[in-house]
Amino acid sequence: MRIAIIGAGVVGAAIAWELTSVQGWEVAVYEAQPAPAQGVTAAALGLLMAVLSDRGTTKRLASLQRYHEILTDATLPGNRRGILRLYEDTATWVKVEKMAVRRQRQGWSLELLTVADLQARFPVVNSHGWVGAVLSPQEWQLQPAPLTAYWLHRATEQGGQVHYNTPVLQVLPGQPLRLVLRQGEVTCDALVVSAGLGSTQIPGLSAPFRLEPVLGQAVEVWCPELADYPVIYGQETAIVPQASGSVWVGATVEARTTPDPATWEQLWQRAVAMCPVLQGKTWQRQWYGLRPRPVDQTAPIVQNDPHCPWVIWATGHYRNGVLLAPWTAQEVKRRLWELASATSSMGK
Ligand SMILES: Cc1cc2nc3c(=O)[nH]c(=O)nc-3n(C[C@H](O)[C@H](O)[C@H](O)COP(=O)(O)OP(=O)(O)OC[C@H]3O[C@@H](n4cnc5c(N)ncnc54)[C@H](O)[C@@H]3O)c2cc1C
Repeated sequence: MRIAIIGAGVVGAAIAWELTSVQGWEVAVYEAQPAPAQGVTAAALGLLMAVLSDRGTTKRLASLQRYHEILTDATLPGNRRGILRLYEDTATWVKVEKMAVRRQRQGWSLELLTVADLQARFPVVNSHGWVGAVLSPQEWQLQPAPLTAYWLHRATEQGGQVHYNTPVLQVLPGQPLRLVLRQGEVTCDALVVSAGLGSTQIPGLSAPFRLEPVLGQAVEVWCPELADYPVIYGQETAIVPQASGSVWVGATVEARTTPDPATWEQLWQRAVAMCPVLQGKTWQRQWYGLRPRPVDQTAPIVQNDPHCPWVIWATGHYRNGVLLAPWTAQEVKRRLWELASATSSMGK
């Protein structure tokens, strides 16, 4: 079976890697940009928050589990010291205590810390204003661009092809499907659309959903005082130390397409209140990205096209595309298997 994938962001890359592991499947990725991870993936903080999350946890935990299975040897840059989440109100804290018991039963460990524990273990964190904290040691942060490149590299080692500078200009339905490229036409038996926000803009395809951009801003500062720390997360603000001594701070959630300086300033002030050591640090890099959020639908969208089942949509990952990439890849593989088996049994 010949499978084309549109988009070499973190989602398309994970899918490419997963599908190239199947013998007999020929996989080709088409990416408009000259390199991988040039879309919103370039802007992501790369947090894999699943154990500590209270929404969509089945997919999130499955995806985190997959990361633990597939990235054991890889020396990919990121922070594997866990996520330290801070809680400010008692009602939530009571729920967190119950959640910790549930997660423990599911095989995930969470360490509940009192304010005194927090102060003793993580002195650089301002312990005032919190009712408690939870350390989740199995949740990681991975730098999304190297992760994407890694998966694509592995996919090519497994026989896949990746074509950069190759926007898919149009898709012509039928079996086989035809993709119109600048270089001419190519055909495939199945198509996976993982083009992020671009997924709904491809002529010839009619997406059965809508996506809207949600902007996120972040910065990188030099702060070696935090180098040995886990990711620190509270009040929708993430402080993400890297082994190099730099720290990523983000991310705003804005329903607009150009960044608002005041929204950023509020987030930065929250980060400084959490870790006063950040005060006065010079921003080395500031960036933003547009997350693809499904309109009136839960993220992500992984489904067969209602008119042409050989087209599989894998997009709309909104705030969790890095986390959910391995789950998405497995789900796409499962759907392709189903189609392939149904076709071969019909042929018998
Ligand atoms: C500030 C910020 C922080 C974030 N933090 C996290 C986090 O901590 N954890 C997490 O899990 N997620 C996070 N996210 C969300 C995450 O970035 C996205 O969910 C994820 O990157 C989506 O990946 P993607 O591959 O679907 O999209 P993209 O990265 O946008 O990739 C789509 C690719 O398709 C290509 N393309 C589009 N149209 C065509 C075409 N016609 N032909 C060929 N190629 C095409 C584009 O060039 C692009 O490279 C964050 C986002 C932001 C903005």
